[in-house]
Amino acid sequence: MPTPYDPQNIFARILRGEIPNKTVLETEHSLAFHDIAPQAPVHVLVIPKGPYASFDHFIEKAAPAEIADFNRAIMQVIADLGLAEMGYRIISNAGVHGHQEVPHLHMHVLGGAPLGPMLQRS
Ligand code: AMP
Repeated sequence: MPTPYDPQNIFARILRGEIPNKTVLETEHSLAFHDIAPQAPVHVLVIPKGPYASFDHFIEKAAPAEIADFNRAIMQVIADLGLAEMGYRIISNAGVHGHQEVPHLHMHVLGGAPLGPMLQRS
């Protein structure tokens, strides 16, 4: 079952200005800000401003302009933070198996050092 959208989720509250964030980039349809608990020297979250719980929800429901804006915002963050030359990782967790904690679509943009293997298996 898809993750339901909860308008009280923390990223919805950031978008409403109810809690602060360290903004990296804001566009018409997207916001990028530093993760509060960075997992790499660069760890930025890019979110759409619309109420989309996950990547599949976003691609199914969002307007083409929102999808284009989101992708361009991710690319702009990669460029602005100088990640393109040495590389980076983008990840979006979804649902239970994806271990998604915040039910508002977000793309993790990670970089600034070697990131190791993609998944740690336990
Ligand atoms: P996920 O597990 O993919 O849902 O990731 C949620 C991410 O949101 C985690 O990396 C958290 O550190 C991050 N996070 C939670 N609250 C905040 C916040 N107030 N500002 C910035 N990042 C946050």
